[in-house]
Amino acid sequence: MKVCVVGTGYVGLTTSVSLAFLGHDTTCIDLDKQKIDTLRAGQCPIYEPHLEALLEQAASRLTFTTEYAVGVPDADVVFIAVQTPQLDNGNPDLRYLRSAAESVAQHLRGDFTVVVNKSTVPIGSGNWVDAILREAYERHHGHRPGGQFAVASNPEFLREGTALADTLYPDRIVIGSDNQTSLDVLNQLYRPILNQSFTPPTVLPRPAGIGAVPLVSTDLASAELIKYAANAFLALKISYINEIAAIAGKVGADIREVARGTGLDARVGPRFLNPGIGWGGSCFGKDTAALIATASEYHLAMPIVTAARDVNHRQRTKVVDRLLDELHIIKGRKIGILGLAFKPDTDDLRDSPAIDIANLLLDRGARITVHDPVAADRFRREQPTLAEHLADRVEDVFDDADAIVVATEWTHYRDLDWAKFAPTMRSPLVLDGRHCLNADRLTELGYRYLTMTAPAIP
Ligand code: NAD
Repeated sequence: MKVCVVGTGYVGLTTSVSLAFLGHDTTCIDLDKQKIDTLRAGQCPIYEPHLEALLEQAASRLTFTTEYAVGVPDADVVFIAVQTPQLDNGNPDLRYLRSAAESVAQHLRGDFTVVVNKSTVPIGSGNWVDAILREAYERHHGHRPGGQFAVASNPEFLREGTALADTLYPDRIVIGSDNQTSLDVLNQLYRPILNQSFTPPTVLPRPAGIGAVPLVSTDLASAELIKYAANAFLALKISYINEIAAIAGKVGADIREVARGTGLDARVGPRFLNPGIGWGGSCFGKDTAALIATASEYHLAMPIVTAARDVNHRQRTKVVDRLLDELHIIKGRKIGILGLAFKPDTDDLRDSPAIDIANLLLDRGARITVHDPVAADRFRREQPTLAEHLADRVEDVFDDADAIVVATEWTHYRDLDWAKFAPTMRSPLVLDGRHCLNADRLTELGYRYLTMTAPAIP
């Protein structure tokens, strides 16, 4: 099929590369010329494992452009995968989506095109995009559209860091439209993934036990709500275990054992039960806020989702409290933060807990040094006021520090030569905000090891 993807960010680029790899002719449109130039040069503008390798493998079926006229007119399917960042009132900012839809409408020419919302958008946005497409089409073409296009929703569930595997081997695919032909076209487009009939890329072998992928083919509103319901539930799971972690610390229970023993119940499941400094990233905060905002339009409160957000916020301030308990005074202390990305294997810094924690510590008068093995360049560009605290070498984070906070569980930090660094610190205190280090080993090496719940050892 001929596919066009508008927006070459984490979602758009992963979708494009995967669809091209599966054999679809794919045109990727972005207004960011620098991104398009980078992609044309065969390089990846974001850090995502295996993406560059697959980009190279699928290059002959990929076109990168800033021009809608190049990809839209011939496309059977146009995906819109632009950002929908959060506004102050909790609602997502839909201006990128509006602008993308208007540009798409101007170039729609084919017999029938499915215009697919892949961006996470509030329930009802499918109808809204349909109206924008129709108005813009009429304005530009001078007549009303007939049945040339229909709108569908295809929410994205990929996780940064494992985006390609999540796309090629998903738990499910959700498509929603009030137009049956659109659902048929998308079913056809995703057929190789649904029946796992493609030859896996060498860099990403098919995981054992993967069979046919379930398809949820439904109406627009249901597809849109599925995305929010799923993200809010995952956010809730993380906040739930952090709430349990708070009591575990008080009663002397080991939260990792509690999480394991709870998650082994198949009705609960082990994933997203990791205690620590909480979630971050571009989705959970924004999507839970959007769900609450949509509910309020219907005079509905969402106390459970609201509580999950409050608990998550509390985890960030708790880092300062934990350090205060141990160091008694924060002012003037040198505190190192290991990890800036909101999670490992990505360079995404959006709503990263590390950034809030850095600001909270600075507000308290701490001297901070921060480090990330991958996201440093991006941090320098996106956080100019904090960039002066960035260390290129991890040893500078430890040097003369009163405490280290592990904010991102990069393997890089697990594998550090921790023995070498303890003597370089003023006081070898480690707050493991992700429960990712070996407590016994660090204690043997002379560190005081602290988690978000348990007191420092020894
Ligand atoms: P992103 O910011 O990484 O990428 C968006 C891209 O769209 C940018 O490259 C931008 O230049 C481009 N763009 C903006 N307006 C445009 C326009 N009018 N025409 C062409 N290009 C335009 O965003 P992302 O992280 O890929 O997220 C995209 C959507 O997918 C969001 O709604 C997000 O909530 C959702 N989502 C993201 C993830 C994730 O893990 N990042 C997962 C699931 C869903």
